[in-house]
Amino acid sequence: MRVLLTGGAGYIGSHTLLKLLQDGRNSVMALDNFSNSSPEALRRVQKLSNSNFETHVGDYREPNVLDSVFDSFRPDAVIHFAGLKAVGESNEKPLLYYDQNVSGSIGLLDCMQRFGCKKIVFSSSATVYGEAQYLPYDEDHPLNPTNPYGRTKYFIEEIIRDWVASQSDASAVLLRYFNPVGADESGEIGEDPRTIPNNLLPYISQVAVGRLKELSIFGNDYETRDGTGERDYIHIDDLAAAHIQAVKFALDNRGCEAINVGTGKGVTVLEMVKAFEEASNREIPFQIKGKREGDVARSFAKVTKAQKLLGWRAEKDLVDVCRTAWNWQTKNPSGY
Ligand code: NAD
Ligand code: UDP
Repeated sequence: MRVLLTGGAGYIGSHTLLKLLQDGRNSVMALDNFSNSSPEALRRVQKLSNSNFETHVGDYREPNVLDSVFDSFRPDAVIHFAGLKAVGESNEKPLLYYDQNVSGSIGLLDCMQRFGCKKIVFSSSATVYGEAQYLPYDEDHPLNPTNPYGRTKYFIEEIIRDWVASQSDASAVLLRYFNPVGADESGEIGEDPRTIPNNLLPYISQVAVGRLKELSIFGNDYETRDGTGERDYIHIDDLAAAHIQAVKFALDNRGCEAINVGTGKGVTVLEMVKAFEEASNREIPFQIKGKREGDVARSFAKVTKAQKLLGWRAEKDLVDVCRTAWNWQTKNPSGY
């Protein structure tokens, strides 16, 4: 199949790109403007896969960029990763987020329609659920995102749903990621935040490698096993595999499906710190701080829909997460 990856040089895009190439039967193009990634990620994917793929450097919001990509590559399906993802920044610059994520996605769907491409897999997020009314979150849980970033994901989901409904043979899979973590087994590609990490795992691993002094734990009086926030951490390798299944599903089916991608199990911040200490054999100094605004106590997925529709389930565990994240961090202490 011919698959276009918007944001293909990013953290999730690069791992998915590698998996698509390792599958051996796919022609792939990565479109990225490197606003939050490095061309080095693509060079490394090329080396690891020992196969060629096309790249296009540009902003996916520019119509001439998309037209030229679709005209030359003619994808059967698009995996749409490109966009901005920092919750805090989205509170400060909501219009930037609506432009990059929502307007950009509308332009992409318009271009797909003009070129007769009717299959899309979209990077959505568990943030669309908002405060849990019950756990685990299943795909029918009410959607009530609590920040502009989450609302962009919610609006794009609805736009894609309408777009699919308006055409007889279109299909979409809205993958609602829980917390993507870890790195490829090779340690050649991984998560490479450009600034001080917002997310737990890259923060911990930068403390372990000595780039940051100590971890701040945001709250220890949540109603969880040990008082710290609980999340469903999904290994990037498993997440990449879910995309391969989702593209196949989109190509074989019609309609729009939202599907959770998680392990179904929650891990607390303190459990993650302990697991990373064991994997790295380093101490992770931390201080308990106040709660981070907008954080929920617990978040984990019901994963049966992914098993049923995609034949996919997470295979890697917390030990794999910490081992591969540490391998990537030690091989690339300053990132790419
Ligand atoms: P990332 O920032 O590493 O990857 C996004 C890629 O898109 C980057 O390479 C960036 O350069 C590119 N990009 C951004 N704007 C672009 C534009 N206008 N034109 C072309 N390229 C552009 O992020 P990621 O963690 O790989 O996330 C991928 C997607 O998954 C995002 O849509 C994100 O919202 C979503 N998501 C991520 C997480 C997570 O925790 N990482 C969780 C849920 C959902
Ligand atoms: N967290 C923390 N310190 C950090 C970053 C995160 O204590 O420096 C906590 C956060 O409060 C949450 C969990 O770790 O309970 C996961 O946070 P992350 O930002 O990685 O994911 P999200 O909140 O988006 O699920």
